[in-house]
This record gives sequence, structure tokens and C-alpha cells, in this order.
Amino acid sequence: MKKQLLLPCLLMAGILVHNAAAEAQTIVQRDPLIEKMVRQVSSDSLQSYIAQLVKFGTRHTLSSTTDPQRGIGAARNWVVQKFKEFGAKTNGRMVAYVDTVTIQPDGRRVNRATNLGNAMGLLKGTDPNDKRIFVISAHLDSRVTDVMNTTADAPGANDDASGVAAVIECARILSQSSYPASILFVAFSGEEQGLLGGNYLAEKAKQEGWQIEALLNNDIVGSNNSSETRVIDNTRLRVFSEGLPAYELEKKAATIRNMGWENDGTARQLARYVKEIGERYVDQLEIKLMYRNDRFLRGGDHNPFVQRGFTAVRITEMNENFEHQHQDIRKENGVQYGDLQAFMDFEYLRKNTAVNLAVLANLAGSPSVPQEVSIDVKNLTNSTYLHWKPGATGKPKGYYVLMRETSEAQWQKKFFTTDTSIRLPYSKDNYFFAVQSVSENGQESLPVVPQVSR
Ligand SMILES: [Zn+2]
Repeated sequence: MKKQLLLPCLLMAGILVHNAAAEAQTIVQRDPLIEKMVRQVSSDSLQSYIAQLVKFGTRHTLSSTTDPQRGIGAARNWVVQKFKEFGAKTNGRMVAYVDTVTIQPDGRRVNRATNLGNAMGLLKGTDPNDKRIFVISAHLDSRVTDVMNTTADAPGANDDASGVAAVIECARILSQSSYPASILFVAFSGEEQGLLGGNYLAEKAKQEGWQIEALLNNDIVGSNNSSETRVIDNTRLRVFSEGLPAYELEKKAATIRNMGWENDGTARQLARYVKEIGERYVDQLEIKLMYRNDRFLRGGDHNPFVQRGFTAVRITEMNENFEHQHQDIRKENGVQYGDLQAFMDFEYLRKNTAVNLAVLANLAGSPSVPQEVSIDVKNLTNSTYLHWKPGATGKPKGYYVLMRETSEAQWQKKFFTTDTSIRLPYSKDNYFFAVQSVSENGQESLPVVPQVSR
């Protein structure tokens, strides 16, 4: 027997369904445990982490790694110390370390052999068969106007102590609970010198076959205003995701073109998921999907991951103030330049951190994605038949089948079923579909777009 229930997508912005007869309702269903964790995100804690990070003077990648007070070495040790502090209460489930590598001069932004170190905290999952890893990352290093200036004060309060503070706060709160899957907390080094720490970890993860299912890279998430246009807004947050995949595009291009899937890659699915779950748990915040991998001609530590086929997005504040980004601290014509704490909005950073926390808790608590999700094309028909197999781990209470019109940005309808197949009276010619596993508490896996089955 099929048990099906039609739910409108939760907390979608705008009009839900084009069927006028079905008056759409917005239902907010929050898992009380995740809701409670979201409430623990503290703007005071975030502010204190940033104050400490700024105190290291500069966190330039080529600054001292041995000075106990000043430079990137002291900073990365402090981050790992925080992870260890949280880990001490987890019965050994959380481990922390600096993952180091020597980078040789590259004739660009590294002028001498450099000891590069990513600060890592791993909260291990409770299910030994569950190999999934969900990652939250940010970059610890900072810079001023001259990217090779290793000695000037480079507070990097927003770029990117804000992201690192979000990572630490998520580690603090998430480590107090357990999840079947693992969560990895990373503060990269070497971002400003050419995504060095991101490249190093992405390559290691690729070589060693880490099952990273999603990476949320937080870079510049704590200030609420723009230079020049002087917009002030702490109610919107951007999520950048690639459209056409950087990884093996040639191999996939024909299918993407035939199916019209240029807007349905895994990074775009993750971005939609961040929007749905983020807006489900965080009030007074709208998440804007940006249909590009990063800001115009710019990059971040999610790049090395998407280039290797991992699913990764960049999370960034809505407006950037370039008087406070990559600037020497100085006053010119009465304008204060520099990436100073004074320019930050800790309430905004609290909300943006809470989005990450809700998404990570929801993902790490979800059952594995359904497998072999297929759309049947044996006959020409005006209905759509989808079938799949349960995921590798977890016990789903059922599945959501997501549906949207081909021109819509967000999923419009979700059908719940306890079965592993569904026939819908909607034509596959006119809609896109995806399937996600749902846990007993309502935590959804990432959606899987069906492959064609003949
Ligand atoms: Zn940055």
C-alpha cells in the first residue's frame, strides 16, 4: 500500500503552486532539538572568537608559525585548542589537529618554503557504517592591501574571522550532540595566497576517497553594508553555487543538455537545501541563491572541492564593503579603511552561523541519500513513474519526492511516501523531480535527481 501525503515545500518564499484550487499553506515544521541548538548560537561567543583572532595581529599565511602570540601559527593553535576544549566533553568522538604541509615557492604569492597548516576538528559519526562527512569551513589567514605584506596588522575581522567564528561556534554546539554521520570543522590557511589550504585538503580527500557529501564554505559573513551604494541589510544571505559542473563537464554535458539539467547539479541542490533548511530554522533571514560559483571573477576555498567533483557552496554576506576588505588600516579623507571588528554586525553573524548549524545538524542526522533513483521512460505517458532503493545507512521513515516547474528556482511540491516508488499524475516533460530520504524526526538527505531508466 502506498501512503502518500502532499506537503507544500516548507517556508518557501513566494507563491507555492500554480494550481489555484490548492490554496497553498506554509507549514514550518522544526525538529525541537535542532531548534534548541539554533537558539544556543550566541553573538557574544562569536564576538569573543573574533576579538581573539584579531589579537594575533596578522594571520598572514607567510607570517610566523612559531611566535606564541603573533601570526598564523598562534592563530591555528588557538583554533585547534578550542576544538579540543569542545572535544574533551565528547568521549573521544571529537578530535582536533593542525594538518600541515610544506608549500614550495610558486613565483606568485608564495616567495619561500612555507609551513602551511589547516586547523581541523572532526566530530565522528556514531554509525560505523556511515562514511558520510559534512564539512563547514572558513579561512583563517588574512591580508592587507599588498598580498605579500606579512608583517602589517591584518585583523581580517570579517575576511575571514567571521567565517572561522561561525565554524568554532558550530563546533561548540554540534559537539554536544551526536549524529550518525561525521562533521568536519576546518579553518583553512593560504586562501589569500591562492586557495592553498583548500587545494591541499581537497586533493587529500580525493586521493583518500573521503565521502564528503557537502561543504559549506563561509567566507565574509559578518558585516551588513556595502561601500559606495551604502546599503544596510542584515536580513539576506547569499549562497553561491556552480551551474554547469567544473568536474568532468565534457562527460556530462550531453546528458545535462538533453535533460535540461543545467540548473540541477549537486551544488545547486545543496544551495536550495541551505535555503530551505536555513529559512526553516532562522527567523528574519532570507537566503538568496546566486547562480554562479562565486562573486564575479573571484574565488574561495569551495573551488578546489567543486573542481574535484565534491558538492560545495560558498556562503557570503549580502553586501560587501570594500573599504574594509584587503585594506591597510588607515584613514583617508576622513574614511577609515581596514577589516576591523568595529564594522561588524554580530546579530547578522549569529543568524548566518545558525543557518550553517541547522543545515549541518539536519544533514548529519538524515539517512543516506536514496540510491539508483530512476525515472521511467519505457512508454510515452503523461504521468511520471519514479523508483529508487534505500540509501546505504540509516532507517528512513520515508521519502520526499520533490517537484517543480522547469522555470522555477525552488522546489514547489513535495510528496511523502513510505514506498520506494511513486507514480505522479504530472508529466515529466513539464517538471523536474528529485528524491530525498527522510528520518523519523523529519531530517532530509540531499535530493537526488533521477537518472533515466529504460
Ligand atoms: Zn576571504
